[in-house]
Amino acid sequence: MTLPATRRTKVLATVGPATADARSVLRLIQSGADGIRINASHGRAEHWRTSAANTRHAADIAGRPVALLFDLSGPKIRLSSDVEIREIAAAQEVEFIDEDTPQNGAIRVRWPELALAVAPRRSEIVIGDGTPRFIVTEVSGGVVRARCERPGTLRPSKGVFVTHTEAGGPALTNKDLVDLDVAVEVEAEFVAQSFVRTGDDVALLRDALDARGSRARIVAKIEKVEAVENLTEILEHAEGVMVARGDLGVEAGPAKVPLLQKEIISRATAAGKLVITATQMLESMLSSPEPTRAEASDVANAILDGTSAVMLSGETAVGSYPAEAIEVMAEIAREAQAGRPFAVDIKAAPSDQAEAVMQSATYLAEQIDAAALVIPTATGGSARAAAKYRPGRPIIALAEDEVVTNQLALEWGVVSATLPAHPGKIIDLLDEALWSARAAGRLSNGDTVVVTYGQSGRVSGGTDLIAVRRVGAALPPGASGIDLAMG
Ligand code: PEP
Repeated sequence: MTLPATRRTKVLATVGPATADARSVLRLIQSGADGIRINASHGRAEHWRTSAANTRHAADIAGRPVALLFDLSGPKIRLSSDVEIREIAAAQEVEFIDEDTPQNGAIRVRWPELALAVAPRRSEIVIGDGTPRFIVTEVSGGVVRARCERPGTLRPSKGVFVTHTEAGGPALTNKDLVDLDVAVEVEAEFVAQSFVRTGDDVALLRDALDARGSRARIVAKIEKVEAVENLTEILEHAEGVMVARGDLGVEAGPAKVPLLQKEIISRATAAGKLVITATQMLESMLSSPEPTRAEASDVANAILDGTSAVMLSGETAVGSYPAEAIEVMAEIAREAQAGRPFAVDIKAAPSDQAEAVMQSATYLAEQIDAAALVIPTATGGSARAAAKYRPGRPIIALAEDEVVTNQLALEWGVVSATLPAHPGKIIDLLDEALWSARAAGRLSNGDTVVVTYGQSGRVSGGTDLIAVRRVGAALPPGASGIDLAMG
């Protein structure tokens, strides 16, 4: 059968000065954005509140769920503002110190714990976009000695990246905690955490969200070498990860980014987690209405790697063609999905019974070439369990809770919509699910679908029944009257 050409990979757009008003955000969403990212490294709380309100309003007009992701700045270290502009030659020996420590000739850094954090002969200190780059040779008395590995120019206030830090700044800065209040106030469905190093860093954010009564899902940004080394534990703590290629490329070097991207996407997908690929995807569209062929190939490759979502940063925040960038990204995604994106082996051992049910339902849908999987869900977990197999048909997820439908908007292959409260009879749930799925997934009469549901109603992990149904055979909700509810 010919499957409907639903786009499977989602598009996340960063808002900024170029898209600060309601009309621009509506254009982003009408052009195909599935999620809007607010970057707390730029702007102020009043801008973020306006962007959040614009997003909710535009989603209402567009009539589909849109996820709001709030990206915390994290502990970004910088050179002191009085560092002199100067060239550093290859193999030149230099000293770094905290900016409050007087020492002539040393490079001053805004980070009191610098000397405690670096690991001699292991840590590299990387300035700005990648140069100059140093290897730490020795630490004594608060002074960090380092040798230049790649020459470059020092400039005041440039970003400083230190690899293999043994301590480091707090995972959440005071600014992050203040900004988090805004993220919670605007009910962001996702909070992204910058410069994550360990699972404990993510646990800190979880505690901060719990303390604020937020259900936001955490996206850990993988932009440090330590985060790649600790990916397993980070994936245990976070609901998703971002391949933050900008800062990751600064730390690891650009040449390592392509394989790291593949590794992070495949491990996140295998763990059933959301994964977003970000940064410079359509960079030339900052000032051009067409992408370069290399950029089109880069987006397509991320889709073939199996990424859940692709992200635009400057292109939609400050670029001249924000809506066009979304349209281009969506079109590349639609074309690229004809190749088979990376998926977890559908016969891999499931981790528990709930996962086994969804795995079997997904397999069944593939075997009978169903038009869609229809999944009533309480928390979105069943839909995510199906998504990790990257099935060749839409996953129509139906939830009562709008937070869940918005969260699912960023998941690979998921079309999410709301479903009225469960009436108590399984047959009614089935009818209602088919009824809602028909509209949300643009199904036609006669289409065969695989529906999953739970005997005990829509509860987390409660899915234990799989049915094959033909769309059109269902009566309008409430018309069947046959009560199959378990006593
Ligand atoms: C990145 O570094 O690639 C990234 C997405 O983070 P930010 O935009 O916060 O620099």
